[in-house]
Amino acid sequence: MMLVFLGPPGAGKGTQAGLVARRLGIPQISTGDILRDAVARGTDLGRQARGFMESGGLVPDEVMLGLVEDRLGHSDCAKGFVLDGYPRTLAQATALDKMLEGGSKTIDGVVFIDLGDEVVVGRLAHRRVCPQCKALYNLGANPPAKEGLCDRCGVALATRADDGETTIRTRLKVYRNETLPLVEYYGTKGILKKIDGEGKVEDVFAAIMEEISEVRQN
Ligand code: AMP
Repeated sequence: MMLVFLGPPGAGKGTQAGLVARRLGIPQISTGDILRDAVARGTDLGRQARGFMESGGLVPDEVMLGLVEDRLGHSDCAKGFVLDGYPRTLAQATALDKMLEGGSKTIDGVVFIDLGDEVVVGRLAHRRVCPQCKALYNLGANPPAKEGLCDRCGVALATRADDGETTIRTRLKVYRNETLPLVEYYGTKGILKKIDGEGKVEDVFAAIMEEISEVRQN
């Protein structure tokens, strides 16, 4: 199954995409994680992406297209994938469709997790991430068992460089201008599944799995 996760920053895309991918036994492809890893390793891609990411802007489409085409070509994607954070622009969405058309495939479903701006800002301020396994925590709603440490690796949790309030506001603006048009794009295709992102992690996950089971039966 080929799924796309859409939604504002902080809506829970990464957490939910990870849970869904694990449940379905297909890879979660987080373009944000791939880029952050490239920045941390100081690769060419990382050097190209860093400034855009730190300011809350988008990495240029040409860079993203190459990255995603390469990643989707890996053998672990043959049975499907969960795209988390891609596409983020109409140009990326149409490029993805073309990429898949080459193999006579189409996206099966788009999970749109919606959440209001103020909830987003509050959530991101409390977000922590494990630098090793990338597990996400929220100090309010989903805290680690031991304060400040990842449940899986025991590594000290970190704050993302772009989770400061000013950058969050920029990311929300970029989301509204560049990414929100994708809701209409996929809505017109009849594959959009809208989910309210405001519940508990397990309740949102259950709602997503229910929507996806419909897609799987089709
Ligand atoms: P995320 O972890 O998905 O919030 O992504 C973090 C940052 O990586 C974004 O704010 C962008 O700067 C960059 N990024 C991730 N995915 C994309 C994409 N599909 N297009 C452009 N920039 C992206």
